[in-house]
Amino acid sequence: MTSGPGMSGLILEEALLWEKGKKGRSAFSMPQQDVPEADLDASLLGAAPDFPDLGEVDVVRHYTRLSQWNFGIDTGLYPLGSCTMKYNPKINERLAATPGIASAHPLLPELSPGMLRILFELQQFLAAITGMDAVSLQPAAGAQGELTAMLMFAAYFREQGGQRRRILIPDTAHGTNPASAALCGFKPVPLRSGPDGILDPATVAAEMDEQTAGIMLTNPNTLGLFEENIRAITDIVHGAGGLVYGDGANLNAVMGIVDFKRCGVDAMHLNLHKTFSTPHGGGGPGAGPVCVVKRLEPFLPVPRIVKTAQGYDLHSDAPASIGRMHAFFGNVSVLVRAYGYILSMGPQFLKKASQLAVLNAVYVREQLRDTLELAYDRPSLHESVFSDKRQHAFKVSTLDMAKRLIDHGYHPPTVYFPLVVPGAIMIEPTETECKEDLDRFIAVFKEIAREAETDGERLRQAPTRTKVRRLDETRAARTPCLIG
Ligand SMILES: *Cc1c(COP(=O)(O)O)cnc(C)c1O
Repeated sequence: MTSGPGMSGLILEEALLWEKGKKGRSAFSMPQQDVPEADLDASLLGAAPDFPDLGEVDVVRHYTRLSQWNFGIDTGLYPLGSCTMKYNPKINERLAATPGIASAHPLLPELSPGMLRILFELQQFLAAITGMDAVSLQPAAGAQGELTAMLMFAAYFREQGGQRRRILIPDTAHGTNPASAALCGFKPVPLRSGPDGILDPATVAAEMDEQTAGIMLTNPNTLGLFEENIRAITDIVHGAGGLVYGDGANLNAVMGIVDFKRCGVDAMHLNLHKTFSTPHGGGGPGAGPVCVVKRLEPFLPVPRIVKTAQGYDLHSDAPASIGRMHAFFGNVSVLVRAYGYILSMGPQFLKKASQLAVLNAVYVREQLRDTLELAYDRPSLHESVFSDKRQHAFKVSTLDMAKRLIDHGYHPPTVYFPLVVPGAIMIEPTETECKEDLDRFIAVFKEIAREAETDGERLRQAPTRTKVRRLDETRAARTPCLIG
């Protein structure tokens, strides 16, 4: 993200030149041709792509430089709230790359009893961690886990002989929740959270009826607050014949601490690419397993992995199943990382990781409460949400402070989300940061807040130390131009 130290202006400019191709250069050599040349049917040939000719050194330097302009969890704190950007132990990368695992062919399941065992045991671990009864590892992401569960809700109500069209979704939910529900024909009904940032059972009671399939509840919610009334809420939903979906993407705060079945949750998804040792946010593969209670088990995707007297097997004979959600077994390399992570941590240290994640978040909140306005001044879990209310007087916004953090070498926190907090700044430090690193981050944020009062223009101009300054984010998303 920042330019390399010690690069003189001229060398840097040279390095930034994008087009480095020179006709005739190449970075590979083909083996000697040892077969006769054949005539190709010219009609099969299209126009050759217009690739530049490059030497090996050009290619290596280009990609290495690009990687250095990037920011990653391996280079620094990445306090992106609602995302759990924690450090992932490298041992789990090695496990996933073990040749016997990485090259297991998905079309030969019966030849891979070891793989089936890993997947079966991972299902059991996730059931134990959440308190739920049965698990499918197929969904490839959190949002696909939501979609899987919503398809199961729809199938459940079809089997009950009724069509329920509405589904309740609080304003503190992740944006994917209403989209997943709508894809399955449900009409999302927004619920307002109370003045304390959590959901009031009376709000649920007022909307829950026999036309309503149930509720999608994120707990802890996206304000980092525990929905304390969850038992009362799930009782109301069940009382009207509905089902409860728990968005468990924020499990990092509650591993081995909250029993979701006892809370009244019927189905939930987990983001293995947040909590369980797969890097998140780079657009790589993920996994969003779905955990359900007994009465929803018949609807789980097939094939199911089952334990038999001989070992492990795949079963597809499930008439009520919603079918397949993913080719083969899901994103297996992600599942292997999670398996390794859970085994290496054990129940005791998974719980401790959650406790430390909460401790770190609360520490940051308490250290910054005099600097930034706390959106909800009540006990919070793995993340805390502030706003730019105090900086408004100096015409400095959340965006300005976030951009200035980049100049100090930090990835900004999540900003302007959740929408219920205007100018939101949502900080999730995770358990993998030590106190010294948190103290440095806190000191920098305090310095930025001081700057807001004395030199606001500096913040409005930030970032200044990056290759590109402020981007037109709307245009960048709509018409991405990947050429520097
Ligand atoms: C990240 C997240 C999701 C979506 O997960 P993806 O894997 O990005 O689809 C859903 N809900 C919550 C609460 C999340 O934080």
